[in-house]
Amino acid sequence: MDRIKLIKEQIEEMMDEYYNSDLKVSQILANHNVNIPPSKLLSLFPPIESDEKCPYCNVPLIAKRPSRSYPKIHKSDYFCPQCGHRNMDRCCCDGCQERQQQERDQAQKVIRTTYPKQPNKSLADLSLEDMINFGALCMFNLSSDMTSVGPVGYYTSITPAKDWDRDLLSDLVKKGFISVSGLSPVEAFNPDVFPFDYDPRRVVYDINLDPADVQLIIDGRQPDLSVETNLLEVKSIWRKINKSLIYNYLLMTLASFNFSFSPGDKTKILVETMLDHFALSQSLYIVKKCVGEGVVNFKEGNIYKKHAVNQIITHMINYTNIAIGNGFKKISFDPPLLPSRPQNLLESALEQYVIYRLLKINNSFTSPINQVQL
Ligand SMILES: [Zn+2]
Ligand SMILES: [Zn+2]
Repeated sequence: MDRIKLIKEQIEEMMDEYYNSDLKVSQILANHNVNIPPSKLLSLFPPIESDEKCPYCNVPLIAKRPSRSYPKIHKSDYFCPQCGHRNMDRCCCDGCQERQQQERDQAQKVIRTTYPKQPNKSLADLSLEDMINFGALCMFNLSSDMTSVGPVGYYTSITPAKDWDRDLLSDLVKKGFISVSGLSPVEAFNPDVFPFDYDPRRVVYDINLDPADVQLIIDGRQPDLSVETNLLEVKSIWRKINKSLIYNYLLMTLASFNFSFSPGDKTKILVETMLDHFALSQSLYIVKKCVGEGVVNFKEGNIYKKHAVNQIITHMINYTNIAIGNGFKKISFDPPLLPSRPQNLLESALEQYVIYRLLKINNSFTSPINQVQL
C-alpha cells in the first residue's frame, strides 16, 4: 500500500504505536502492511503546525515530527512550507535576505546623512607632525582620487603602538583633516548607539584636503626638510619611533621567557641614553644579549623572576654606560649590530613614511639618529 492510499486513521494508529509503544519500526510497518524502508516512517506523519505564521507567506510554520529518540522540537525546527523561512537569526530565505538588505540600505542612508563631507582645510593648517601622521595614514587604502582613506584594519600598524595609533587617528579627526565618511561600512558602527559610536580602524575617512596637497604629502615633498627646524622635528619623531621599538622588543623578548615587566624611570633613562648614542640595531643587540644572559642566570641561580628582570635592566644599564665611556676605566666601544631586524618587530606605516619618504635613507636600522647626515 502506498502513502496516498493510507487513510488518516491508519496513520494516527501508526503514530500512536511509534510514540507510545516499544514496537520496532519494521513491526509497525508490517502491522499496517506498509512497504517502505523503516527510515521513511516519519515522513508519513503529518508535520506539527505552529501557532506562528511565516511573515512573508502568512501560512503557519511547520516542523517535521521528531524521532522517538530525540523527541524535543526547537523553535528553529519550524519552517515555512512555501518559502523555507526559519525562525532564527541566520535564516537566509529570500524574504530574510531582502529584509536584511533593506535594513542595510536604511542604515547606510543614516550613516550618509550623519557623516556628510566636511569642508577642506588648507595645507597651511597642518603642522609638521600632522602632515607626517597623515602621510602614514595614507598607506592604508588611499582611494585613487585621493579623497578617502581606510579602513586601517586590525592587523596593521600605523605606528609602533596601539594607543599611539588610536591617538593619531582621533587627533586627525579632531583637527578636521579627515572625517568619518558617509560611505563607511555598517559593520564599523556599534549597533547599540548607532550611528554615533564607531570603530576607528573599521571606518573609511573622507580626506578634507585638496588632492594636490595630498600628493605633496605622500610624495614626501611636504613637510619641507630643507628647513633645518623641520629636519630636527622629523628626527625627533624618528627617535620616538625607535624608542617605542626598543620598548616593544624588550617586552617581547622578556615575554618570550614568561617574564612580565612594566618599565619604570630607570628603564626610561636607559632607553633615552641608548637613543642618544646607538643605532636601533645596537640597542636591540644590548637588549637581546642582556635578556639572554639574565635568563641563563635565572635558570642557574635560585632567584625570583622579578629579581631576575631587575638584574637584566641593571646589566643593560652597566653595559650601556661602559660602551659610552662612563665606566670607571673610561673606555668606550661600539656595541655590535644585530645582524638583521627581528621579524616580530614590524615596520609601521609611520616608520616607513619617515624613513623612506621623508628622510630617504636606507640604513636607518644601523645608523645612530644623531649621526645621520642628509
Ligand atoms: Zn514563507
Ligand atoms: Zn527567513
